[in-house]
Parts: sequence; structure tokens; C-alpha cells
Amino acid sequence: MTEFEVIQKFFNFEQKLSKSIIQSIGDDCAVLDIPNNRQLVTSTDTLVSGVHFFADASPQQIAYKALAANVSDLLAMGAKPLAFTLAMSLPEIDPDWLKAFSQELQAQAKHYRINLIGGDTTRGALSITISVLGLVKKGRAVSRSQAQIADDIWVTGNLGAARAALKLHKKAQLNADEQQLWLALTRPQLAASFARKLAKFATAAIDVSDGLLADLGHILVQSKVGASIDVEALPLSESLINHLSLEAARQSALAGGDDYQLCFTANKKHRAKILTQTQKTQTQVTRVGIICAQGLNVLLNGEPYPITENSWQHFNRDA
Ligand code: ADP
Ligand code: MG
Repeated sequence: MTEFEVIQKFFNFEQKLSKSIIQSIGDDCAVLDIPNNRQLVTSTDTLVSGVHFFADASPQQIAYKALAANVSDLLAMGAKPLAFTLAMSLPEIDPDWLKAFSQELQAQAKHYRINLIGGDTTRGALSITISVLGLVKKGRAVSRSQAQIADDIWVTGNLGAARAALKLHKKAQLNADEQQLWLALTRPQLAASFARKLAKFATAAIDVSDGLLADLGHILVQSKVGASIDVEALPLSESLINHLSLEAARQSALAGGDDYQLCFTANKKHRAKILTQTQKTQTQVTRVGIICAQGLNVLLNGEPYPITENSWQHFNRDA
């Protein structure tokens, strides 16, 4: 198969194109219209075999995670997903692998309502780079830099399960709890519908990809504020507690990575609005702390809580 045939067969998706997309795959460039009073938001993430996914990960797992990790960044800006490009480096042309990969990618693209509009295909070690494009109302992108003292700190979904699942990679038989953890790692559920309203109440937001403390830390630095986190409030799945114990589950939630949930700050006056939005979109959202002047205080019953797990770092994963 030639590169051209690969693109035609696997990546020229049948998809309902947004009316903003004037030219999709097939020309030298894609062409997009930006609607009035909107701004274009863009981000890129690369997934490398053996670093971001296990070398034996299935094509479906890789496709799912590559798009989710990128869409997650759009959501954290309060942006509506519009389009993405796919640059892939492949060790060989394996039609079965490509078919499974492209089918899952197409299914997830449909789910997030995002169109594949171009890419690049080269030979090399397996690596997938996706760039996403999204739209926000002019001036309404939710940054990391505007958290205010006394804001509530919220997170969507549950935390810590993906981190715990890393240790299950070599395990042959998974029990029901372990299967739930594995799903959290391989098929994280993004708070996509909830995030569409983020700009209406959030002062700052970030997606939790490196762990709550590490990612909240970015908001604190850029907003020049501090935070107090209530360990008792951390959202933990039953499976995680069953699997690890409450204490270890809390540590995993604070330090873990790969959760792809949203952490955002909002003025207290928006509590009712936020809860209405969680009901409308069937999204779990939990208040886990409060923004203060400085420091990052992790407290259990008002006492400092010792952190024993390290946050995610590249080149330092026990794969
Ligand atoms: P060029 O030589 O101009 O870079 P290519 O042959 O690389 O063109 O790509 C031809 C068309 O196919 C372009 O529109 C490009 O965006 C698209 N394309 C290439 N690889 C992919 C891919 N993996 N997924 C989606 N579109 C792709
Ligand atoms: Mg090219």
C-alpha cells in the first residue's frame, strides 16, 4: 500500500463536516472559516509508544487515548471542538492495525463532534501527534491565570484510578474492580457536555493529566494564588477504594495522572449554576477545596496531610 492509499482507505473519513470547514483532507492545506465573534483555540499532543501508552497497547486504545488527550485540552479552555489533524509515524503499513485504529478514531471523532481535516503519514517508530482546533466566544477562553482568592476548587469525575491501573498492565485476569480501573486508564470519560458551559462560571481551568496537585499547581503559579485541598472531599471511585484502601486511594487521587478530568475554579456565587449544569449533563462534579493567598495546603480534618506519592513525570514511569 502506498501512503496515498493508506490515507484514502483509512483516514478519508465519512463524516458530517462542520460548515466552518471549507476544505478538508485532499488538498495541500485544509481551509476553515472562523465565525464572527469567535476565536480559534489550538493545541497539540504527541503520544509515543512505550512512553504514553504501553508498547503492546491495541490500536483502539491508542486511537481512543490520542484523541481524548487532545480534546481534553480544548475542554479545559471552555472551547467547542471543531477539527483535528493527525500526524502519524508508523514502523510498517499493517492494514489490520490501521483499520482498527481508524475505526476507533472515527467513532471517537463522531462522539466529540470533531472533524479530521488533514495530517501526515511517515515511516518511523510508532508515534501519534494530534493537533486540535476549537472555537470559543471572543475573549472567553478559560485560562489558568484568573483564579481568585476565595474561589471554590472543583473537579469533574473521579481521580486516581488511571494511576492505580498502571500496575495492572501485566496482570492476566482482572477482577471487576480492576476492570473498572483499567477502563479509567484506557478509556477515560471526558466531561465534554459539562465543559461546554465552563466559560459561564469558571475563573480558571486545567485538565488533570499529570495529577491533581501538579495540575492545580499550574493554576496557582499562573494566577499567583494558593490553595487549600480537603482530602476527605476527593472524589474516589468505589473500585479504587476496594482495590487500594482509602488511604492509598487518596494518595493516588492527589498525585496520579492520566485522569483527564477537569479541575476548575469558580466564585462561590456560582455553586447553584454549577450544580444545575452537572444535573443537565449527568456529570459528577465535586468541590475539593478553596483558593487562598498562597501555598498549597493539603488538609485532612484541618491537619496537614503528608503526600507520599510522586506526581507523573516523563521518563520515570514504572511501565
Ligand atoms: P503533502 O505532500 O502535501 O504533505 P500528503 O500526501 O502528506 O500531502 O497528504 C495529502 C492529504 O492527505 C493532505 O490533505 C493531508 O492533510 C492528508 N493526510 C495525510 N496523512 C493523513 C493522515 N494520517 N490522516 C489524515 N489526513 C492525512
Ligand atoms: Mg505530507
